[in-house]
Amino acid sequence: MNMMHQHIEEDDDVDFHSFSHGLFIGGKWVEASNARQIPVADPSTEAVIAAVPDASVEDALAAVDAAAAAAEGWRQTAPRKRSEILRRCFELMTERAETLAMLISLENGKALRDARGEVAYAAEFFRWNAEEAVRIVGDYSMAPAGANRILVDYEPIGICVLITPWNFPAAMATRKIAPALAAGCTVVLKPATETPLTAYALAALYKEAGVPDGVVNVITTKSPGPVTSAMLADPRVRKLSFTGSTGVGRNLLAEASKTVISSSMELGGNAPLIVFDDADLDTAIEGAMVAKMRNAGEACTAANRLYVQSGIYDRFVAALTERMKGLVVSAGTDPASECGPMITAKAVDKIDRLVEDAVSRGAKVLCGGKKPDGVGFFYPPTVLVDVPADAEMAHEEIFGPVAPITRFETEDEVVARANDTEYGLAAYVFTKDIARGLKVSRRIEAGMIALNRGLVSDPAAPFGGVKQSGLGREGGSHGVLEFTEPKYVAVTL
Ligand code: NAP
Repeated sequence: MNMMHQHIEEDDDVDFHSFSHGLFIGGKWVEASNARQIPVADPSTEAVIAAVPDASVEDALAAVDAAAAAAEGWRQTAPRKRSEILRRCFELMTERAETLAMLISLENGKALRDARGEVAYAAEFFRWNAEEAVRIVGDYSMAPAGANRILVDYEPIGICVLITPWNFPAAMATRKIAPALAAGCTVVLKPATETPLTAYALAALYKEAGVPDGVVNVITTKSPGPVTSAMLADPRVRKLSFTGSTGVGRNLLAEASKTVISSSMELGGNAPLIVFDDADLDTAIEGAMVAKMRNAGEACTAANRLYVQSGIYDRFVAALTERMKGLVVSAGTDPASECGPMITAKAVDKIDRLVEDAVSRGAKVLCGGKKPDGVGFFYPPTVLVDVPADAEMAHEEIFGPVAPITRFETEDEVVARANDTEYGLAAYVFTKDIARGLKVSRRIEAGMIALNRGLVSDPAAPFGGVKQSGLGREGGSHGVLEFTEPKYVAVTL
C-alpha cells in the first residue's frame, strides 16, 4: 500500500472560497439570519478549507417562500423550455467537469477518478430528465362501464424539500433536482454538512444555465432536524425526497406523516456480492473491485458481504487480495489516488470497530485491517476471510474499503444468507449460467441486481431499494413521476 498525504497547494485550480457566498435563496446569495458558520474540512489533510452559513428555521422558511414565489411561473413554463434549460445544465456541468471533480474531491476526499465519474453521472441526470420533461404523458381511456371517459394528467406535485448525503455531493442532488424541475416543481435543497460546496457551486451553474430565480434554493444548516420539521410543517411543501441513512429516513417519514407529505426515501444498503463456481474469475474480480472500491467503499450500493463458492474461493481470495494490496491510497486530489480518505474520523472509527469485532469473532485479516497514524481520515484497503454470520459487519453498512469474504456451498444457502438483512438495495451475482443468474436475481430481495458487473447506477434505470432500503425510485421513467400527482378527470361527452 502506498500511503501518502498530499496537501492542497495554493495554485490548485479550484477557488473553493468562491463557492461559499451565502445561502442560495431566490436566485441570490443571502446572508443567514445569524452569524454562525459551518466549517468545511478537507478529509485528506483535516484542514478547514471554507465555511458556509448555518441557516435557521427562519432562513429555511424564506427558502420555501422563494420556491413558492417561483412555483406558478415554473409550472407554466412550457415543457420544451424546461427541457432546454435542463439540457444546458448538463452541458455546463460537462464543460466544467474537471473543476467540479476537483471540488468534490477536495470536500469529500474521494479519488479524482471517482469524482470525475460522479460528475459525468450527475450531469447525465440533467440530460436524461431534459428528455423526460417533454415526455410526461397522461392517459385517456373509456371507462369499463362505457358511461364516460377517464382522463389522467400528471401535474407537478408542488414544492419539494430535498435532503442529500455527503458521499455523492453532486449526483445525489442532481438525481432529485433534475426530475423535480422536469416535472415542473420548485425545490429547496439541504445538502450534507460535510460537503456543501459542490451544492452551492452547482446552484450558481443552474442560474447560469437559465433556471429562474427561486426554482432551486440551497440552504446549509447545522440544525437539520428543526429546519426540516419547519419546512415539512409548511402546507405549501408537498414532497420530501431524502437520500441518507435508514435511521434518519425513518425519523423523517414519521415527521412527514404529520402533514401527510409524499415521501421518497433512498436509504442504506448491505449489498451481497455472490460469486458462483462457474463465474469468469477476471470478470468477478473486476466487478468486485468496482462494487467494493468505487468511492473507497463509501457507497450505499457498495458490496458489504462477499459470498464465494468453494470451487473458486481460493483463486478469488488470492486475486482480490492482490488487487486490494496494490491500490494507491492518497489524497483524493492526487491524480494517482485509487482510494482517498474516509469522510470523517468518526467514519474511520466505525470501520475500525467493525473490523476488530469481526476479528474477535474469528475472521482473518489478509491485508490492511489497521487504522493508520497520521494526518487525514485514511483507512487501508482490507480483505477479511472467514467472517462469521454474527459479525456486526454482516448486518451494518461498513461504508469503507473493507471486503469481508465468506465461503458458501449451495445456491439455497447463499440466497438465504444474502436475504438475511433488513436492507434490500443492491446485490451482485457472478455466474456464466445466465439462467441461474436470472433465477437468483429473482430470489434476492433487493431493488437492483448487477449480473456479471460491478456497477448498477444508471440515470436511465430505476434506482432504489426494497425493505428498509427505501421507498420509491430515482432515474429511469419512474424518477420524474415521483415529482408528479396524477389528476383524474371523469368526462361525460
Ligand atoms: P445521514 O446521516 O442520514 O444524512 C443524510 C442527510 O440527512 C444529510 O444532509 C444530513 O444532514 C441530513 N439529516 C441528518 N439528520 C437529519 C434530521 N434529523 N432531519 C433532517 N435531515 C437530517 O446519512 P449520511 O451519513 O450523510 O450518508 C450515508 C448514508 O446514506 C448511508 O446509509 C448510505 O447508504 C445512504 N445513501 C443511500 C443512497 C441511496 O440511493 N439509497 C445513496 C447514497 C447514500 P447533516 O449532514 O447536517 O447531518
